[in-house]
Amino acid sequence: MFSVTLFVLFVVSLVMGVNLYNLNAKPAPVVAQEPTPTPMPDVQIAPPVQAAPTVGAVDIASLTTNRYTFNPLVGIVSGHKGYDPGAVCPDGLTEAEVNYAIALEVTNLLARQGVQGDVLDEFDDRLTDYQADALVSIHADSCTIPGASGFKVARVTDSAIPEDEDLLVSCLYDQYGAYTGLPQHPASITDNMTDYHAFREINRGTPGAIIETGFLLDDRQMLQNKPKIVARGIAAGILCFLDQRLAPAE
Ligand SMILES: [Zn+2]
Repeated sequence: MFSVTLFVLFVVSLVMGVNLYNLNAKPAPVVAQEPTPTPMPDVQIAPPVQAAPTVGAVDIASLTTNRYTFNPLVGIVSGHKGYDPGAVCPDGLTEAEVNYAIALEVTNLLARQGVQGDVLDEFDDRLTDYQADALVSIHADSCTIPGASGFKVARVTDSAIPEDEDLLVSCLYDQYGAYTGLPQHPASITDNMTDYHAFREINRGTPGAIIETGFLLDDRQMLQNKPKIVARGIAAGILCFLDQRLAPAE
C-alpha cells in the first residue's frame, strides 16, 4: 500500500516536473484520478505458531478443553523435588530446579487438554499404590560430562503391563525427539532408571516411564532456557500414549 502511494506521488511529481519546464504550455487538464485498484499488498502472513518442528508430532497447541471423554489423571514426578538437588552444575544450577520448571509446564500443557496432572515429589506419599492413566518421572543427567548430549526414556524391567509401558516409552522417544531435536542417548540408561523406586511404589496397573531430558552440561541451553519446548515434548509424548489408550471426546 505504501509503495502504491509512493508510486502515485512519483507519477504526479513527474507530471508536475514536466510542467515546470514547460510553463508556456497549456497546463495539463486536471484529470480526476480514477480510483486506482488497490493491488493486494504483498504482506507476509506470519506462519502459524509451530507446535512442533516435525510433521506428525502431536498437536498440543490448540486450546481444546477436553481431549477425551473424561478427565484422565497423569502423575508427573518432579525429579529430586523435596529430597535432594540431584545433579549440580559448577555455578550452582541444580537438576531439581530444572526438572521442576519442566514439570510445572508439562502439567500446564496437559491441563489445556483436559488432562489432570499431579506434580509429585521424588519421594511422595501419594506414590504408594498411585493409580493414574500414566506416570512420568522427569530427570536430567550429569553436569560434568563434556561431549555428552541426548535424552533417554525407560520403564521398569519387569513390567506388569509391558505393552502399555512400551507404548508410553516409544511415544516419549518420538515426541520428545521431535520437539527438542535432541538425539537419543540410550547407552546411558542405568539401573536407576529401569529399577526406579517409584515404579515399585505405584499401582502395577499404572503405566510408568522415566525420562532423562538431557545432559545438564551440553544440553543446558535447551533444558534451562527452553523449558517450554522441553515440556511440550514430554506432554506430547503423554498425549500420544493417551490418544491410543483412551476414547477421544466426541
Ligand atoms: Zn535425577
